[in-house]
Amino acid sequence: MDKVLGIDIGGTSIKAGMFSTEGQLEAAAKIPTGEIVSEADFALVTEGLKKLLEDNGATVADVVGVGLDVPGPVDDEGKVGMLANIELDPDGLQAALKRTFSRANLAFVNDANAAALGELWQGTAKDASSFVLVAIGTGVGGGVVTDGKIVSGAFGAGGEIGHITVNREETASCGCGRQGCLEQYASASGIVRVYKQECKARGVEPVKLDGPTDTLSIFNACRAGDEAAQAAISTMCDYLGYALAQISVIMDPQMYLIGGGVAGGFKLFAEELRAAFRKYCLAPSVSTRILPASLGNDAAMYGSAFQAMQG
Ligand SMILES: [Zn+2]
Repeated sequence: MDKVLGIDIGGTSIKAGMFSTEGQLEAAAKIPTGEIVSEADFALVTEGLKKLLEDNGATVADVVGVGLDVPGPVDDEGKVGMLANIELDPDGLQAALKRTFSRANLAFVNDANAAALGELWQGTAKDASSFVLVAIGTGVGGGVVTDGKIVSGAFGAGGEIGHITVNREETASCGCGRQGCLEQYASASGIVRVYKQECKARGVEPVKLDGPTDTLSIFNACRAGDEAAQAAISTMCDYLGYALAQISVIMDPQMYLIGGGVAGGFKLFAEELRAAFRKYCLAPSVSTRILPASLGNDAAMYGSAFQAMQG
C-alpha cells in the first residue's frame, strides 16, 4: 500500500507521521536528533523512518512521498533559504532521503505554510479554497492559501503576517528590526509584554508567570477578573482584528484560522477578536469566519505529507 511520510523538523527532534494517500495518519514517531548536518545525522533520520514503517507493517518501497517542514523560507521552487534557528543541511538530508526512498517525491515546505496545508487537507479548512492560518506562538506566523495553493511569494516572504505594521507610534523594536509589528502585541511574548506594562501602569504585581511566553497564566488571570490581563487580551484582539481586516482588503479569504499555542485560549478571546475584525473590515468582508485550527501540533506533519503528494 502506498504511504506518505510527513516530517516536522524541530530543534532537538523530528516528528514523523506515516499517512495513507487519502490522508489518514496511521502511525507517528518522535526521533531524537541534534543538528542534522553530517552523514551520521542523516542516517539517524532515515533509520528512524525505516523503523516507523517496519513497526507498522510497511517498507521503504511503499513510500511515494516524503515531505519535510523547515522553520525558515522556502521559495516556490522548493529551495530552502537561510535557516536562523536550526542546524540543518537541507541538500544533504534530501540526498540521503532520495537514496533511501527511491520511489518517493521529496518536498520541503515552510513550517507555517505546512500547518496551513495540513488544515486544508484534513483540518478546519478542508474544502475551503481560500483562507489564512494565523499561527500564534512565540511569534506570529502565517500561511496564506488562495485557490487551494500556498502563497509563498516571489521572495519567500509571503504570509509573514506577524510583521504587518499595526502601530506606527511604537518605539520598542520587533525581532525583525522594525517597530510596531503585530507580533509585538499578539504573539505569546507580545501578550506577556503588554500584560506587564498594564500591571505597571496600574501599580499592581503581575500574576506568577512560568517564563516569557506563559499566556496560559494570563488567560486564567483574565477569567478570574484581572483587569491588566483583560487589557492585554483586548490589545491583542484589537491589533489582530485590525491586521486581519487589512488582509481581507487584499485577498478577502473565506476564513481565518487561529492556531499555535495561544489558540488554547481561543474561546476566551474569540468574540472580542471577531468584533474587532468587524469594526475595521470593509463591509463586504463582514461575515468572514474566524475559527480555531483543528490539528494542533500535528498540522505541520499533515501539511508536509500533503506537499509531498503534490509533485
Ligand atoms: Zn517585525
